[in-house]
Amino acid sequence: MTPSMTRNNQKISLSITRMRCASCAGSIEKALLKVAGVEEARVNFATGQATIRGSAARKALEAAVKALGYGVRKKDTQNEGLKPLAPLIRLISAASLTIPVFVISMFGLKFPYSDYVLLGLTTIVVFGAGSEFFIGAFKQLRHLRANMDTLVSMGSATAYIYSTVELATGGKEFYLETAAIIITLVLVGRYLESRARAKTTKAIEKLASLAPPTATCLREGKEVVVQLDELRPAEKVIIRPGDRIPADGTVIEGQTTINESVLTGESMPVEKVPGDQVQAGTINNNGNILFKIDKLGEDTTLAHIIRLVREAQASKAPAERLADKVSGIFVPAVLGIASVTAGVWLGLGHPLAMALSASMAVLLISCPCALGLATPTAITVGIGRAAEMGILIRNAESLEEASKLNTLLFDKTGTITRGEPSVTDFYNTSDMPEDELLSIVASAERPSEHPFARAIVGYATARKALVKTVTGFEAISGEGITASLDGLNVIIGSEQMLRDKGIDTTTFHKEATEIKGGGKTLVYAAMNGSIISIVALQDTPRDKAKSAIEEIKALSIEPVMLTGDHEDTAREIARQVGIQRFKAGLKPADKVAELHREKDEGKKVGMVGDGINDAPVLAAADVSFAIGTGTDVAIETSQITLVKGDIKKAAEAVALSRQTMKIIKQNLFWAFSYNIVAIPVAALGLLNPIIAAACMAFSSILVVLNSLRLRRYKPRSGTGRRASKKRSLKCCELNKSETNIYARR
Ligand code: ADP
Ligand code: MG
Repeated sequence: MTPSMTRNNQKISLSITRMRCASCAGSIEKALLKVAGVEEARVNFATGQATIRGSAARKALEAAVKALGYGVRKKDTQNEGLKPLAPLIRLISAASLTIPVFVISMFGLKFPYSDYVLLGLTTIVVFGAGSEFFIGAFKQLRHLRANMDTLVSMGSATAYIYSTVELATGGKEFYLETAAIIITLVLVGRYLESRARAKTTKAIEKLASLAPPTATCLREGKEVVVQLDELRPAEKVIIRPGDRIPADGTVIEGQTTINESVLTGESMPVEKVPGDQVQAGTINNNGNILFKIDKLGEDTTLAHIIRLVREAQASKAPAERLADKVSGIFVPAVLGIASVTAGVWLGLGHPLAMALSASMAVLLISCPCALGLATPTAITVGIGRAAEMGILIRNAESLEEASKLNTLLFDKTGTITRGEPSVTDFYNTSDMPEDELLSIVASAERPSEHPFARAIVGYATARKALVKTVTGFEAISGEGITASLDGLNVIIGSEQMLRDKGIDTTTFHKEATEIKGGGKTLVYAAMNGSIISIVALQDTPRDKAKSAIEEIKALSIEPVMLTGDHEDTAREIARQVGIQRFKAGLKPADKVAELHREKDEGKKVGMVGDGINDAPVLAAADVSFAIGTGTDVAIETSQITLVKGDIKKAAEAVALSRQTMKIIKQNLFWAFSYNIVAIPVAALGLLNPIIAAACMAFSSILVVLNSLRLRRYKPRSGTGRRASKKRSLKCCELNKSETNIYARR
C-alpha cells in the first residue's frame, strides 16, 4: 500500500476561529471541498469544528481556511479554547470611547474643535475596535463573497463616510455617533453570543475533563505518582476512596463500588471485585482496589464516547437544509435590498441622508446569524445532554428521525428480558443416564453465544457434566444449533426448528405442557432424529421494562414485541410488561419482513435490540436503538446506543429528541419571521440604524439562549440526573456507615 492510500480515509478535525455565521461555515465547507483529496467536509458553526474526510494533508486544509480570513486553533478543541479576554478588551475600549461620542452628539455639546474630537474618537472605534469587521469583509471581497462582516462594515462605513464628507464640506448634519454605536453594539452582541455559544458544548467538555491529571501506580513494588500520559500499558494502578479511575482496566485486588454515571447516566454504585472491568473517568466510592491497565488515553471507553459525541454534534440535521440554503444567498440578497432601498428613496426625491439611513437600517437589521445558529446550537446541546443521560446519539439525523417515531419494535430475549436465563427443568426423554445426556447437550451448546446456550452449559457444568469438543458446529440465528459429537448428529433449538428438520415433537406434548408456563421457553434437543431432552428456561423481564413500556405509550408510540420464541412464552412476557401487540416464532429474516410491513403502512419505525443477533433488523429500521452493557460501546452498529442496558432510555431518547426538534422549530420560526418582518420595516425607513444594530445583535443571542434550555432537560419520570444524584449521595452515606452494603447484597 502506498502511503497516500493508507491515509485515504483519515478524518481530520479543525477548530476554526473568527466564524461569524452559518454562511461563513458554508463558504469554508466549499473551500475545503476544493482542496485536493478531500472527500467530505463539514463545518459546524455552533461548535466551531470542521470535520474533513479524505487524504488531504492538515497543512493544506489549514491554508484553505486561512485564505478565507478565518483562523485555525493549534490544539483541536471546541469552544473551550475561546479566549474571551481579547474580545472583551476590544469591547470595553469601544464602549468607553463611544460613550463620550454619544454624550457630545446627543446634547449637541459645543467646544473648540468639538466636531474634530468627535471624528477622532469615532475613527478609533470604527477602524480600531471594529477593525475585525473591515478585515473580515475585505478578505471575503477578495473571493467575491460577503458575510456578516460585510453588512456591519458597510453599515457603519456608510454613516462614517457620509458624516466625514458633511464635515469637510461644512455641512451641519452628521451622524458620527451612529457609526460608533453600531460597532459597539455588534461587539457586545457578538461577545455575549460567543459566551453563550461556548456553553453549548459544556456537557462534552465536562466529560473530557473527567480523567484525573495524575495516577498512583505500583512500579517495582513502590507507589509512584505519575502524570496521566506517563502511564504505561498493563501497569498496576492503586485506587483509593474518592479517586477517579485514570484508565480502563481489570480489578486484580480489593473490592469497592464505583459510580459510573459519567458513562451510563445511572448513579447507582456498581460493585467491583477482582476480574471486573473499570473505566476511565468513573469515580471510586469507599473501597481500595488495585487494577491492571487494559486501555490508555485515546483508547479508553471515555475517550471513544467523547470522540463520537463530538462527531455527532458536528453533524448536520436535515432540518438545517432550508436554513443553509437561505443563509447561502442571504447576505447578497440583503445587499441588493439595501441598494434598491437607497435608490427608491432617492428616486422619490428624498434627501440623501434619509435614503442612506433606510438602507443602513436594512443592512444592520438583517441577521443571518440567528438563522445559522438555530439548528446547530440545539443539536449540540441536545446530543451533549443525551450523553450525560447515558444515551449516545450517532448524528443529528438520527436525533431528528427519533423525534418522528410512532412505532417501536422490541426484541424479546436480552432486550425486554434480562437475557440471563436459567434452566428450571431438564427433562430426560432418552434412555441414557442423566450425566451422559447433560454432557451431550452441553458439548453441543458450548460454542454458541446465545444466552440460552450459556445457561444450559452453566447448568450442566454445575452438575459436573463432561463438556467435549464437537465438530461441524453451526448456529442458526433465531432457531438453534446443530453439531456432531462422536459421529452422532445433535440438534438443539426451538420446537419450530426441530419440526422443520422433520422431527416429531408431539410425542412429548404432555411432558412439555407440564414444565411450561409462566413465560418459560422450551428448547428441544434431538440426536440422530429423535428427541432426547426438553429443557425449560426462564428469562425474566428487566426491572424497568414495564414502566419503560408505559412511557413509550405515553409518548403515543406503539410498542410491538418481535421474538423467535414460542407464541405462549411471548404472550406471557408481553402480558407481564404490558405490550398488546407481539409476533412470535420469527426468524431474523421474518423480523426484517415484519419491520418493512410496518414501514409500508406509513409508520416511522424504530427498533430496540441487543445489537448482536438483531443486526439485520436494526439496520433496516428508521432509527435503531442498541442496548449496551455499559462498557462496550456498540454505537458503531446503531444510531442510538443506550449505554446501560435499560430500555427506559429509549423512551427518554425519543422524548429528548422531540424537545430538541421543538426548540429547533422555535428557533427557525423566530429567525425567519424576524428577518421577514424586520427587513421591510427597515426598508420603509421606519427604523433608526442604531436600533437596527441592537436588534440584530440580540436576535441571535435569543436563539442560543433558547437552545441552552436543553441543558436542563429532565426526563419526565424523574429518573434523570437530579433524582439519581440524591440517590447516589444516600448510597455513599450508607457506604460510610455500614461499610459497603452492596458487597453484602
Ligand atoms: P429473540 O427473538 O427473543 O431475541 P432469538 O432470536 O435469540 O430470540 O431466539 C429464538 C429462539 O430460537 C429461542 O427462543 C430458542 O428457542 C431458539 N434458539 C436460538 N438459539 C438457540 C441455542 N443456541 N440453543 C437453543 N435454542 C436456541
Ligand atoms: Mg435477541
